[in-house]
Amino acid sequence: MAITELRGMDRIIVPIKLEPGTKFVFQCGPGVPCFKLCCSALYLPLTPYDILRLRDHFGLTTDEFLLQYTEPFILPRSGLPVARLKMRDDAEKTCPFLGEEGCTVYPVRPLACRYYPLGLGIFRNRDEGRNEDFYYLVKEGFCQGLDSGPEITVDEYRKSQGIPETEEPVKEWAEIIMKKESLGPVEVPEKSLQLFFMVSTNPERFRRFVFESKFLEIFEVDEDTLSRIREDDLALLQFGFRWLKSVLFGENLVRRRKEVPEHRKVKPL
Ligand code: SF4
Ligand code: SF4
Repeated sequence: MAITELRGMDRIIVPIKLEPGTKFVFQCGPGVPCFKLCCSALYLPLTPYDILRLRDHFGLTTDEFLLQYTEPFILPRSGLPVARLKMRDDAEKTCPFLGEEGCTVYPVRPLACRYYPLGLGIFRNRDEGRNEDFYYLVKEGFCQGLDSGPEITVDEYRKSQGIPETEEPVKEWAEIIMKKESLGPVEVPEKSLQLFFMVSTNPERFRRFVFESKFLEIFEVDEDTLSRIREDDLALLQFGFRWLKSVLFGENLVRRRKEVPEHRKVKPL
């Protein structure tokens, strides 16, 4: 339950596993009496792709965006550090992007906002060696959208909210969080936490790390990948997720060169 967890804290998870074809009743929009009530007092973790899209929407550098709109947050089950949206310092702790008419960043709103009132879970099918998504409903007392409205399947809802194209680029990132959750309370070295936070929040810093440190002396990266990640933030992110899997879990996705100085090694979990 990595990406969509903790959007709101006072909530009831309906303990029913929903499949893509499962129908539920929901309606939302400016006409509902609870309009905008769900956009306050949130613990809203941003995915790396959320950060890219919001940053570009505002025409900011990543550092500027992070400083202005986010704060660090430790995901409770995994213990991994991410950036979350910093709520306004008003009585209701409203989202910084909430305006009179609703969400002011609607086309680039975070993945967790797109999902609500659904939640996403990822289940590891060990027999088949692959991950399976499942969904669940999140009920909060103030949300009246679940009481009436048209029936819609989970799949239709996901498409209507632009979820597949927003979620796909961060699938591997979600897998890292889920894998750490499944390991339980394993202590993660500070250096590994810093690397995870850098890749998860700041592509500009990660690019400097790749091209301006000893990174390329330690890891083998082919020329085609290098030219893509030099220019393309999304390609850089995806490379970063594969590299994190390699250094955190010992997966051989980004290979080390044979001679690695001992002090530069990050011990896998
Ligand atoms: S980003 Fe938009 S939808 Fe999400 S909490 Fe803020 S105002 Fe609401
Ligand atoms: S509380 Fe529920 S129905 Fe009301 S605006 Fe938020 S998501 Fe829509």
